[in-house]
Amino acid sequence: MPQSLNIKIINPRIEPQKGSGRKKPPFQALGLETLSVIEQAIKKNKKIAIFINRRGLATSIICQECGFVPKCPNCDIPLGFHLPAILICHHCGYQAPMPNTCPACQGYRLKPLGIGMQRIGEELKEFISPLPQYALLEGQMLDNKELKIFDKFNQGKIKILIGTEALLRPQLESADVVIVASIDPLIFLPDYNSEERVFLYLLRLKKIAKEKLIIQTLIPENKIFQYLVNQEEKKFFEQEKKWRQNYLWPPFVQLIKLTLIHPDEKKGEKEALDIRDKIDQVILKTIPKNLQGSFIILGPAPAFIFKEKKVYRWNILIKYKYITSKILQNTNSLSGLNSLMPLLTKEELDLRNKVLKTISLNKYWRVDVDPKDTL
Ligand SMILES: [Zn+2]
Ligand SMILES: [Zn+2]
Repeated sequence: MPQSLNIKIINPRIEPQKGSGRKKPPFQALGLETLSVIEQAIKKNKKIAIFINRRGLATSIICQECGFVPKCPNCDIPLGFHLPAILICHHCGYQAPMPNTCPACQGYRLKPLGIGMQRIGEELKEFISPLPQYALLEGQMLDNKELKIFDKFNQGKIKILIGTEALLRPQLESADVVIVASIDPLIFLPDYNSEERVFLYLLRLKKIAKEKLIIQTLIPENKIFQYLVNQEEKKFFEQEKKWRQNYLWPPFVQLIKLTLIHPDEKKGEKEALDIRDKIDQVILKTIPKNLQGSFIILGPAPAFIFKEKKVYRWNILIKYKYITSKILQNTNSLSGLNSLMPLLTKEELDLRNKVLKTISLNKYWRVDVDPKDTL
């Protein structure tokens, strides 16, 4: 009989300090219990993979006392944090000042989320000796260097692998111990499918782990972790599906993301607002009255990465409700709920394309149907 996997959820902020004799500095990336698991595994010559999210660093804020994350009242999606101290919804444009205290518990520890990868390596060096050689996997592209690292790890020549999303690649065969050092920022990436993305990541990491899966999180009671620990994958997807049905996200609508990329902030903002007006007008004038409700328009709102390389970005999201199509009834939702989206009928396609063509976007616009994210 194969040994069963031991899954443990650890909140590194509230774990007891006793036992190890070490004193924990504030804001350490790896908790004491996690470090001790790593230390034990090293002594037994086990292979260890440490995951840390690359995306979503310091983008939302969280209350380190109670785990509260401010969300948009319209969209129920985490608000993005922007300097100097503003919270913005990247879907509908809702804005609120950054609160001084946590609205849920009145605590004073509202902080941006996120830690970096080098930090993990430095903490290992600081706390564990002798520390075997470790490798960092950072790249988004799979190149020779990365393939070699995977090979060495699979053959046991390197015992510790620290990586971002690259760890999820099929090239990583297995590890005795998998540590999820940081994943919270991904949960709160202001996107409708963030929770599902995290759940799919964790399912993959669970598959890689042979003996232990340790997950560090400030929000251990979050349903993602509970469903994972209790082996209730189906329930997670059922609940996620209900939420998407209520708030109208794929697979219950088709998304069309219009992105304006403009060199001038003022002109860009005006252009984005003008197009929003135009979309409303076009729908009123060219779409039969009984079908106008099929189009739900959000925005314009500043994109998740609003200013980059001297250009500004705004998104307008069109949620397109099916007229006759029904979502697929696939039982294998483990590949993600978006795999349940139906192919549109000709009538539905024609109607949608009529709107997109009639608003005649200029060269600053990009149109993305079924975008992989709404950021
Ligand atoms: Zn919103
Ligand atoms: Zn709080």
